[in-house]
Amino acid sequence: MPQFFSLEEALKYYFGYETFRPGQRQIVETALQNRDLLILMPTGGGKSLCFQLPALLKPGLTVVVSPLISLMQDQVAALRNNGIAATFINSSLGREQVRSREAAILQGKVKLLYIAPERLLGERFLPFLEQLHSNVGISAFAIDEAHCISQWGHDFRPEYRQLRQLRQLYNGVPVLALTATATKVVREDIIQQLALRQPDVHIASFNRPNLYYDVQPKQKQSYFQLLKLVKQNEGAGIVYCLSRKKVEEIAFRLEKDGIAALPYHAGMSDEDRTNNQTRFIRDDVRIIVATIAFGMGIDKPDVRFVIHYNLPRNLEGYYQESGRAGRDGEPANCTLLFGFGDLKTIEYLIEQKPDVREQKVAIQQLRKVVDYAEGTDCRRKIQLSYFGERFGGNCGNCDNCRHPKPIEDWTIEAQKFLSCVVRCQERFGVKHIIDVLRGANNKKVEQYGHHLLSTYGIGREKSADQWKMLARSLLHQGLLDETTDGYRTLKLNDRSREILKSQRSVEIPVETTVTTKVLAENPKSIEAEILFQRLRSLRKQIADEQSVAPYAILGDSSLKLMSRQRPQTLEEFEKISGISPHKKDLYGARFVSEIEQHIKEQAQHLSTESNFLPELESKGASYTQLLTLNLHQQGLSLEEISASRQLRVSTIATHLAELIALNLPVDLERLVSQSRQEAIVKAIEAVGVDSLKIIHEHLGEQCGYEEIKLVRAWWLHQHQN
Ligand code: ADP
Ligand code: ZN
Repeated sequence: MPQFFSLEEALKYYFGYETFRPGQRQIVETALQNRDLLILMPTGGGKSLCFQLPALLKPGLTVVVSPLISLMQDQVAALRNNGIAATFINSSLGREQVRSREAAILQGKVKLLYIAPERLLGERFLPFLEQLHSNVGISAFAIDEAHCISQWGHDFRPEYRQLRQLRQLYNGVPVLALTATATKVVREDIIQQLALRQPDVHIASFNRPNLYYDVQPKQKQSYFQLLKLVKQNEGAGIVYCLSRKKVEEIAFRLEKDGIAALPYHAGMSDEDRTNNQTRFIRDDVRIIVATIAFGMGIDKPDVRFVIHYNLPRNLEGYYQESGRAGRDGEPANCTLLFGFGDLKTIEYLIEQKPDVREQKVAIQQLRKVVDYAEGTDCRRKIQLSYFGERFGGNCGNCDNCRHPKPIEDWTIEAQKFLSCVVRCQERFGVKHIIDVLRGANNKKVEQYGHHLLSTYGIGREKSADQWKMLARSLLHQGLLDETTDGYRTLKLNDRSREILKSQRSVEIPVETTVTTKVLAENPKSIEAEILFQRLRSLRKQIADEQSVAPYAILGDSSLKLMSRQRPQTLEEFEKISGISPHKKDLYGARFVSEIEQHIKEQAQHLSTESNFLPELESKGASYTQLLTLNLHQQGLSLEEISASRQLRVSTIATHLAELIALNLPVDLERLVSQSRQEAIVKAIEAVGVDSLKIIHEHLGEQCGYEEIKLVRAWWLHQHQN
């Protein structure tokens, strides 16, 4: 082991990073003192490093227990790419492979061993573990996804229960438990089940600053709304749907519309599922359409967006699912499509539950989702308050903060509302209070004699929706409380009383007309983006050579830095965050030469064409279209552009057709020969311009759809001006 003067130095040496993420350093220090640890960090917080770095700095081997066999290979490949001696043993290996790995372990050649719990504690493995302990030494047990041990969690796995034996068998070996599940019951259960000894408990903030949260009203033509969103986003994405049928349908339609997408749900065979998951993780397809049942398997650090096509059932679920975006800390979008129809569907499903208590809990949870979706406060604030974390709000990275609704003083209204809560003896929920305020004459109001209250009918000037908005805001701002056991009953707190005594004013964001929201704006330079795409292709090529996921080679963040800083020597290359000395040796030359090549081509290009990019942007072409245009101008054919951008030929043709429509310099001659152009124009003049299919048929199918699309765009452009 090399000598390090500081933990930072070790961090750069093994992982290529310059600084620790919040919490990591302290955890590593604690782990180095051989103490038990419980680490709660959100997805993407950087949990792995918390046991990996200590494993490298301590003598002996760290055993990593992980439930997901399918991910072990990529995790280990990522470590090996940093020159770290890691290995896994699971059922995907043949007997010989297992034996040779075990031999290497006993020779002390391995620092990290990944293994599934059932195997670790199986009869065959226990004697080996004993041997390992006495010959090499076990430096720690790291239990990943530790919530799987708890029945209270969302992903209980009985085989995790046996892990308790580790404490009995190896009393002196420290145990590190890691999870992204935040609830208190689960936390306490983990400590108890694993028999952790006065563990150092680390609870990180569950705020994920790099995620942009956005809720959009679901439109009637919801598929097209989704399609547009998918097109607006770049990179890999997950679309969550409620049912298997929807998953199949959406995946199929996206595929038909030229977007590489695959389905993923419990009704598929194990093999198909694993296959689709692998193709997604390895960037062979851009989109996975999935039901929520299979969230945990879809682990990929560079997911750039998550769209909920249907309403989630509870906020915790929404947080976890949307949180699969942006694990690498780079910007990512989380969009929820909120439709009334979906709400009804879920309510119906809940009514089918046989257990009344369960029904009640489910309804409560659903209400919270609706509050979130309809809320006008900072989305983060609402989410984090659900986990009991206080967040100041105004994150600047959610739709409500970016496009805030006007703030109005509603102190008088709040006083009316709160005094009605008092008059009803703090025994009712929002709906009833509103009924009383608005003077409804329904049975419940009469039954309790609430039509006789002084607050009856004093709120007719506002609609029920407006009162609801006020109630939600009071709750979010902590100006009113609500019980969560069984019924949701409103209760005053100290602040509510201050409002009633006119010692505190109330300001709320007021929903006006529906605003059209845009996704997170992501200012970036086109030049850097073009290089980024190019480096991405190179990374994919290298990953395919090794049959591993691209992220195991290099993270998106490193590629981004590279595309901006353009390192042209190995020394410069190594300065990029995420580049360890080992990675520099492995890949430095290839990336540096790709960058040099790019700079050279760009210079040639700029000397022939004048600097055209900024000007084109203003003509309304989209970003992805401009990337296509750039490659087209470099002389690449449709097929070559398609290969380089990992998009379909038909998509590239659509880009070019749209560019033609915008009167941007697309060289049609190069794409479609003169004689074919003439034939297509004749066909258009004969059968009209509207249907590609009819033109195609008229031509006796001698021209491809792509060609027709391009010529038609040109023809339309000529005839419109
Ligand atoms: P978790 O298991 O908590 O979801 P990971 O351990 O997979 O998260 O880390 C998420 C991402 O953050 C990975 O891409 C990892 O390489 C990166 N990462 C972890 N620690 C650091 C750090 N100190 N600096 C930069 N990136 C980091
Ligand atoms: Zn916000």
